[in-house]
Amino acid sequence: MPSITSHDAWFAGLKALANDDFPKRCRNCGRVFASEGDYFQQTQAIRPEITGLKAVVDEDGPLVEVFRNCVCGSTLLVNCISRRDDSAAGHSRRRLFDELLGYLVRHGIDRAQARIELLRVVAGERSEVLEAWYAQIAARGAKPED
Ligand SMILES: [Zn+2]
Repeated sequence: MPSITSHDAWFAGLKALANDDFPKRCRNCGRVFASEGDYFQQTQAIRPEITGLKAVVDEDGPLVEVFRNCVCGSTLLVNCISRRDDSAAGHSRRRLFDELLGYLVRHGIDRAQARIELLRVVAGERSEVLEAWYAQIAARGAKPED
């Protein structure tokens, strides 16, 4: 796992992290969701007032579970980062999360806040806060040389 040193690498890592659980297949009807965007578009909230998003952060690392209903009515769970996932993919995903987090912290972002916003993106939501930070860091890094 290369260390993240530039804002471009960070952004690429963020995209990889967000897409890691896809494609996802409904075990009931066989429908395939290609990306997190696809998943959120084609599935429905279990109840309108509930996002279905459960983000937990503890000493073992981040965990995000996203519950949505498939068009067939079956409830789907997307595990974006699971601390129970001991596979190589699970480990590299957690490492990537830490890399992304570390990069933000090195650029002066509050760690707890950064975690919350990263978890949002991991779960397929859009984080305007994260996008604003990204723009700030990018602008700082792109100083003209004179
Ligand atoms: Zn289905």
